[in-house]
Amino acid sequence: MASVTKDQVLAALADVLDPDSGQSVVASGLISGVVVRDGNVGFALEVDPDQGAAKEPLRKACETAVERLSGVLSVTAVLTAERPAGGQAQGQGRGHSHGHGHGHAHGGQAQARAPQADQLLPGVKSVIAIASGKGGVGKSTTAVNLATAMAAQNVRVGLLDCDIYGPSIPRMLNLSGQPEMVGERTLRPMANYGIKCMSIGFLVAEDTAMIWRGPMVMQALEQMMRDVDWGELDVLLCDLPPGTGDAQLTMAQRVPLTGAVIVSTPQDIALLDVTRGINMFQQVNVPIFGVVENMSYYICPACGHRAEVFHHGGARETAQRLGVDFLGEIPLDLEIRTTSDSGRPIVVTQPESPHADSYRRIAAGLIDKASAAVGGAGRAQPRIVMM
Ligand code: ADP
Repeated sequence: MASVTKDQVLAALADVLDPDSGQSVVASGLISGVVVRDGNVGFALEVDPDQGAAKEPLRKACETAVERLSGVLSVTAVLTAERPAGGQAQGQGRGHSHGHGHGHAHGGQAQARAPQADQLLPGVKSVIAIASGKGGVGKSTTAVNLATAMAAQNVRVGLLDCDIYGPSIPRMLNLSGQPEMVGERTLRPMANYGIKCMSIGFLVAEDTAMIWRGPMVMQALEQMMRDVDWGELDVLLCDLPPGTGDAQLTMAQRVPLTGAVIVSTPQDIALLDVTRGINMFQQVNVPIFGVVENMSYYICPACGHRAEVFHHGGARETAQRLGVDFLGEIPLDLEIRTTSDSGRPIVVTQPESPHADSYRRIAAGLIDKASAAVGGAGRAQPRIVMM
């Protein structure tokens, strides 16, 4: 069976009419980013942010129209929305409107707008990225447990959920509801377990089928730094979205990072991702504080037997080979999973457990590294690199 082509996809979409305008979705410029790979088709419908839910039937109609084509194996259509300049809370008129065709987030124009660290997070001494080469390796779980471990050591800690697409920190910290406004344009961070937290998950309904375009992601991220009353913090942990693509690279560059931690599982495939993660931060001159191996080994809850599920120790070897520090290992353990997924991090609920101990040790190491990196002079300035 011949694979479907982009032209065929566009021809099929041309027959789909937007009931609001009576025009074809293609003619009215709603369709963007059509990708066709081996019969798998993806594209976006650009809609006004206020119309997200209302446009869901149209998104479905587009998907169905393409699914009918011969040679199509899968179709993913997403609604994308741009927020007006500055969102509701700021209004600084940074030049984005509802229109289409803006430049890339990391283009030359974006460079010129790169924020100054002190403007963004004036009271924050150090900012540490928690990153991973791919999803599902336990990055957010690690971020939450490290944050709680830091809070337990009387470190003033915040956790910024930079995962605009799939924010999981609110659930893991058992936080819900909406942050309060302080004054006209500042949000008070939510807080639990001694951690101040901000996430797009507090501002957008979880089931909103919206994907934000690159520049808007950066704007939301900037707002979560600038327009949030973080107060005085020793450490702000940033849970980055998984992966090492353009979006992550731009974030690594825009957030005034003191250093980065890469979380990995021991599988070889993930280890390749470690290398990519390290390269990404090196590209933007952010120091790598080290690598954490998560789901490193398995201790049988029934008999206490320790089993190496994957090639245990791979992250340590990779770290050594790449000249970065190995920060520690966390086992694969059902308790870590259930506590994390139910918003009761193991460091808080089972502080006596060996796992809590492992997180505390890694956290202590990170605090040392962050203090050494910022020295007595406060936080290092962000390094802006032209690409
Ligand atoms: P990521 O942020 O990398 O996508 P998550 O932190 O969301 O990953 O973790 C993915 C899943 O794996 C979650 O259900 C989480 O509870 C579970 N998990 C994370 N770390 C561990 C671990 N060490 N042992 C068992 N389950 C874990």
